[in-house]
Amino acid sequence: MHGPADLHTHSSVSDGTETPTQLMRAAGAAGLGTIALTDHDSTAGWAEAAVESRRQGITLLPGMELSTRYEWRSVHLLAYLIDPLNGDLLQETAKIRESRLRRAEGIVARIGDDYPLSWSDVLAQTREGATVGRPHIADALVALGIVADRGEAFDGILHPRTGYYAPHYAPDPLTAVKLVRAAGGVPVIAHPVPAGRDRMLPEPYFRELADAGLFGLEIEHRENTEEGKAVVRRIASELGLVATGSSDYHGTGKPNRLGENTTDIDVVRRIVGEATGSAPVLSD
Ligand code: AMP
Ligand code: FE
Ligand code: FE
Ligand code: ZN
Repeated sequence: MHGPADLHTHSSVSDGTETPTQLMRAAGAAGLGTIALTDHDSTAGWAEAAVESRRQGITLLPGMELSTRYEWRSVHLLAYLIDPLNGDLLQETAKIRESRLRRAEGIVARIGDDYPLSWSDVLAQTREGATVGRPHIADALVALGIVADRGEAFDGILHPRTGYYAPHYAPDPLTAVKLVRAAGGVPVIAHPVPAGRDRMLPEPYFRELADAGLFGLEIEHRENTEEGKAVVRRIASELGLVATGSSDYHGTGKPNRLGENTTDIDVVRRIVGEATGSAPVLSD
């Protein structure tokens, strides 16, 4: 295992624009030593990524970014080295993906009342079996020339303040942390302090999550505010949570670049040491 280590990336198995193979090649080109594949609510990219990560001489930490919800807040939980066949986790992720699909169909139907967008346009932007999200709707809007890029779609048509938006089902973070630990995985809260201080979980809730087995907080991430980072650094040190850093690379779907934030290799070793669900894919 060696660095630099980027522990949060997406492929076309969710809302990244590159296949797992292309993503591992990009990781090799970016000079990464270790990468985690963390597609939303799916482990379907693991096998393909493992073949190419070995070829690239990179260590792969198979993972997932599990969707959770706390009141109205969407909270993302990175889950490293889970057992991909754990029954409870499989059941929960299937439920989330199914709800994401119905929700996307609803959003598209409402947008379709005002713009020439149909469900087939979204399917054309979505890999078979992928976890569907607003980014696929954004890509369809781009292909139709309605917006210039994903960012413009998220700032406008896909923003929650519009009448088109709806949330999807997701478990609460505490339930999710317990699920991930029960599946032998290591849970880390992704981008815990995005813009808007009230989007952060209440401080006492972090203690509950820590008591339930939360391992760490993704502090070095471009969506965390500088002010927020200071707050969560203090919370992490008080609760004994580990700090990670990563890019949240989505290919051309976001400006985030591979390796723009990284995680200490000692932290990677601790994650591997605590996990019992699956093993890292080591290069020869
Ligand atoms: P959803 O889970 O369907 O609500 O969509 C949220 C996803 O959209 C997140 O996982 C982000 O990766 C992506 N996303 C959010 N905001 C933007 C943006 N401004 N540009 C591109 N992707 C975004
Ligand atoms: Fe995403
Ligand atoms: Fe996320
Ligand atoms: Zn992500």
